[in-house]
Amino acid sequence: MADRMAFLTTPRAERARRDARQRLEDRREVYRPGELLPLVGGQAERCMDCGLPFCHSACPLGNLVPEWNRLVAAEDWRAAADRLLATNNFPEFTGRLCPAPCESACVLAIDGAAVAIKNVELAIADRAWAEGWDGPRPAEQGGGGQGGRGRVAVIGSGPAGLAAAQQLTRAGHDTTVYERADRPGGLLRYGIPPFRLEKHRLERRLDQLRAEGTTFCTGVWIGRDVAGEELRAGYDALVVAVGATACRELPVPGRELPGVHPAMDYLTWANRVDEGDCPVSPVSAEGRHVVIVGGGDTAADCLGTALRQHAASVTQLDINPRPPEHRAPGQPWPVHPKVYRETTSHEESGAVAAGPRLFAAATVGFEPGPDGRLAAVRFAEAEPADRSPRTGTEQRLPAQLALLALGFTGPEPDQRLFAQLGLATGPEGTLARDDGFATTTEGVFVAGDAGRGQSLIVWAIAEGRAAAAAVDRYLRGCTELPAPIRASARALTV
Ligand SMILES: Cc1cc2nc3c(=O)[nH]c(=O)nc-3n(C[C@H](O)[C@H](O)[C@H](O)COP(=O)(O)OP(=O)(O)OC[C@H]3O[C@@H](n4cnc5c(N)ncnc54)[C@H](O)[C@@H]3O)c2cc1C
Ligand code: SF4
Repeated sequence: MADRMAFLTTPRAERARRDARQRLEDRREVYRPGELLPLVGGQAERCMDCGLPFCHSACPLGNLVPEWNRLVAAEDWRAAADRLLATNNFPEFTGRLCPAPCESACVLAIDGAAVAIKNVELAIADRAWAEGWDGPRPAEQGGGGQGGRGRVAVIGSGPAGLAAAQQLTRAGHDTTVYERADRPGGLLRYGIPPFRLEKHRLERRLDQLRAEGTTFCTGVWIGRDVAGEELRAGYDALVVAVGATACRELPVPGRELPGVHPAMDYLTWANRVDEGDCPVSPVSAEGRHVVIVGGGDTAADCLGTALRQHAASVTQLDINPRPPEHRAPGQPWPVHPKVYRETTSHEESGAVAAGPRLFAAATVGFEPGPDGRLAAVRFAEAEPADRSPRTGTEQRLPAQLALLALGFTGPEPDQRLFAQLGLATGPEGTLARDDGFATTTEGVFVAGDAGRGQSLIVWAIAEGRAAAAAVDRYLRGCTELPAPIRASARALTV
């Protein structure tokens, strides 16, 4: 029998990580295997099952958090898995990678520590796979245009494209995913490193989609290998889910020097080494002094990767001031606050004293050595008002590799596909669409970062699910598919 008052007696506990130094000797996930299950029962019990579950509405998928907490506390794992899989196609990804805005909105977080919701989600997801409860679910009716069902092409195989494809296939549509890379997965494959998501988990999910009937065509760049108009003519509807991977540039002297690379090039090569495509990365940090310019997820992934490649040192330059330890007054509960966070990569960096993480540091230039390659990075203190470099504070860091992780400006502007399909971009550089994910081109829908801008996996899955519902309605005149969000939905702010 679950203890209804456990929130008063049981402290928050999180999944244990392996020793930080030991983690750097491999690229496996950082967590200790087998230590999640004993923990989550107590965490689920801490859920107060409050009348207004803000966690539920803070999750873009509308995950039924209090329901699965109650079921896990009662050890009814099968029912918990059914409730989780009803709203989330890929909980093993969100359970590992989501920043968990649900936990920021947990009522216990008002004056204490939130329920470890993400860990409970992950435990249910992993148990569902282990028990075979999350097997393929082929549609009852065949696709191929029968019974009002249609032929749908999804362009892009990141979490948005995969979620859209899975929903549409399960609804009976004949669905093909086109991906320009050699393997499907989008940023789950070639962005996020294996120490945060081992790729066999992605393969397992892709196998499930295939077994359900989704077809994958990889190595096909829509707009180059196949024209957008040609693809549109061959299908009843298209979902454009091409992501938002145009990197923000750093227009400072020396940017063009050999040794200065966009973070995504670096991470893609590292992931390719893990896939077995090449023995060593052509952009390796091994033995080099490395400077990472940027302060977000991508920068942290570069840090963890450089440490595993045995860099001589790694310094991180973040132009923003160090965030506060606790919620600032302008970010009250239940908003997901911008507070100081130490990622597992930062923990590892501290364990081996790899180098400092500097805040309010504006990068002002890159210097060449006698061989014409990068030899040093110059930076200065950033003015709080406009982040410009403060005169007289300039410093110089020796570096042979600099990685630019300054965020993303939107979908790649040179995608020929956009003009071929008559797709317009909005003021933020993202693809324009109405609140129901439809573009002004008949039968063409946009899902994921391409429409929202660089965001999160949980939003991408929610977008894919909602866009699939819009396509289903377009093709059949009605839909029973869930649509967790509108295209204009945004995270809670004040
Ligand atoms: C390094 C890094 C780490 C991140 N870490 C996290 C994290 O920890 N947690 C989190 O929630 N989010 C994280 N994110 C963000 C998250 O990965 C994205 O928000 C999410 O992947 C977006 O999904 P998507 O399907 O819209 O696009 P993407 O994942 O970008 O996929 C788009 C796909 O479309 C393909 N494509 C593009 N153009 C074409 C074309 N013309 N023809 C065919 N295929 C095409 C691309 O090759 C790509 O595979 C991270 C992002 C990065 C870069
Ligand atoms: S997907 Fe993210 S926001 Fe939703 S319940 Fe899971 S951890 Fe929380």
